Amino acid sequence: MVNLANSQDAYKEAVDLMPGGVNSPVRAFKSVGMTPVFMQSGKGSKIYDIDGNEYIDYVLSWGPLILGHADERVVSKLKEIVEKGTSFGAPTLLENKLAQLVIDRVPSIEMVRMVNSGTEATMSALRLARGYTGRDKILKFEGNYHGHGDSLLIKAGSGVATLGLPDSPGVPKGIAQNTITVPYNDMESVRYAFDQFGDDIAAVIVEPVSGNMGVVPPQETFLQDLRTITEENGTLLIFDEVMTGFRVGYHCAQGHFDVTPDLTCLGKVIGGGLPVGAYGGKREIMEKVAPTGTIYQAGTLSGNPLAMTAGYETLSALDETSYKEINKKVDRLMAGFKEAAETYEIPLQINRAGSMVGVFFTDQEVINYETAQTANLDYFAQYYRAMMEQGVFLPPSQFEGLFLSTSHTEEDIENTIKAVHQAFASIQK
Ligand code: PLP
Repeated sequence: MVNLANSQDAYKEAVDLMPGGVNSPVRAFKSVGMTPVFMQSGKGSKIYDIDGNEYIDYVLSWGPLILGHADERVVSKLKEIVEKGTSFGAPTLLENKLAQLVIDRVPSIEMVRMVNSGTEATMSALRLARGYTGRDKILKFEGNYHGHGDSLLIKAGSGVATLGLPDSPGVPKGIAQNTITVPYNDMESVRYAFDQFGDDIAAVIVEPVSGNMGVVPPQETFLQDLRTITEENGTLLIFDEVMTGFRVGYHCAQGHFDVTPDLTCLGKVIGGGLPVGAYGGKREIMEKVAPTGTIYQAGTLSGNPLAMTAGYETLSALDETSYKEINKKVDRLMAGFKEAAETYEIPLQINRAGSMVGVFFTDQEVINYETAQTANLDYFAQYYRAMMEQGVFLPPSQFEGLFLSTSHTEEDIENTIKAVHQAFASIQK
């Protein structure tokens, strides 16, 4: 057994201090029958816990660390910047630099506003869509998670799916009533919702690749059909690219699938491991945001120098080739999972978009929240613990994808595949 004695002691201390001992629910490891592993440091593809165990990391802070941990380029620039002051409450040139880079790289973004998290980005984009259209309702998809804003915490995935909470107490009914939820990849339901409420729907918000019920890519024309129906109804299309942005491809998911939304929400990779989010889109819409417009949104630490630097250095280190190289490693990893599943007769579906990978223990094709729920959670928990024993750190939930970075080596991938074989061999059916 891997020695986690120090983590267990730290957890005992933490549960008295913070709800569940954590600052974000999935970190509690509940769904895999464990207590949290406390981390101490990371370098490249590796992460180290406070008992001195080393793991190949496929969590990467839940997606942001596309260059791996403590990348030299990012760290050295951050050191230089931190010496000069951490926040001024006034604009800096660093904000212009990151904004320009985002505008150059994301097809839908002509103007951008930096915020501090993905949640802030989606909440602000919704307010903007409502203010801009003068409508109240929004349409979202079951199992899509857009952060913990009230309007969006309805049939959300991620921690909510993992913990089995259908909706959160504390979300007022009046707010929930303005959120229409339909199954992902189901245009018939979208059309029905538009037949009923078309004139009242301010925005359709969608994860262009869903990453919060495990990884579920859009079916062939789904995103294009959403583009068409929103245009026909005067509704804004919002892509929540907090997870997919700069991960699925150099030009984000919208470049990869060639569908341009009205507004885009970003987070995770755009901050390179520091707290950053952003929302942006057509100039005409973005100019409605204060101070040019009347739709209010603000932030004491928004656009702060450290966050802008980590984001800028991370994005600058990526080019089209970086994505091709990560994708090759994903191909090999997926092939390894498939071989192991066949050898040990484990029911397995592997979904993938770029370097987002979702492994489901089920025979059914996973295309939405309902089919994701057919996964065998007991198999997942056994596999999870066996992988950890062998030094592979995965997201502790069947409903989260795993991520790769530019730092993962071929040796990491081969060692992970060996571990998958052992883990699958040990699953008690
Ligand atoms: N949107 C998506 C698609 C996400 O995956 C997440 C977080 O996982 C969020 C929004 C919320 O981002 P944050 O946790 O930075 O608030």
